[in-house]
Amino acid sequence: MTRRKLVAGNWKMHGSLAQLAELDAIAAAARANPQVDVAICPPFTLIAAAAARGDLTIGAQDSHQNEKGAHTGCVSAPMLREAGAKLVIVGHSERRTDQRESDAEVYAKARAVIAAGMIAIVCVGETEGERDAGRAAEVVERQLQGSIPADGTATQLVVAYEPVWAIGTGRTPTVGDVAAMHASIRTKLGDMLDAEAEGVRILYGGSVKPSNAAELMAVNNVDGALVGGASLTAADFVPIIEAAA
Ligand code: PEP
Repeated sequence: MTRRKLVAGNWKMHGSLAQLAELDAIAAAARANPQVDVAICPPFTLIAAAAARGDLTIGAQDSHQNEKGAHTGCVSAPMLREAGAKLVIVGHSERRTDQRESDAEVYAKARAVIAAGMIAIVCVGETEGERDAGRAAEVVERQLQGSIPADGTATQLVVAYEPVWAIGTGRTPTVGDVAAMHASIRTKLGDMLDAEAEGVRILYGGSVKPSNAAELMAVNNVDGALVGGASLTAADFVPIIEAAA
């Protein structure tokens, strides 16, 4: 099955109104490569301005699981949708670590995102210790089981495989290891989602940059990338979009 590639940038806690100027060249690259879906997930404060700037797909980096309520400092999925977000990253390893998010919370967030009419990008990935102990596939399978809504469809769900030890470190798994993990994720999705699993895009994330993007995008079952540091400037991000095309 052919799946449209998705290249999504995660700006994390970076960016300012001035930095939105980067979006113009990124949007131009998205228009020049219509076979690739392109998105940028800026901090909450920039979503509305980013969405208003042009036709680039804008996403968010997290959502609360409830629609509204007494949750000081949190933002809900309907609020993100209203601000202009079309997709939302949930379960990023930095949130699983810093905010101690559990699989059950990630599951609830993914459901809330889908219920609000957006795409949920659910992140999974093992730590270095888990990989060294030979437990990477088992850990990722457990995260998928706990985090993915089993009634989700291929148009509502994206999985991002992000080995924690590869995020922001400049290190990446071998293409063989990426292929093996993405195949194992596809099999697990098949168990959980039946026929929908074939259409779910599985992104690779972790130190994707212009110099390694083409090699990673060519791996079987790699349907795009979730990109952190290299999404902050058009100079780095545009070649990654082109590598996915
Ligand atoms: C990320 O934060 O999702 C990520 C993959 O970061 P980086 O590309 O900087 O490793």
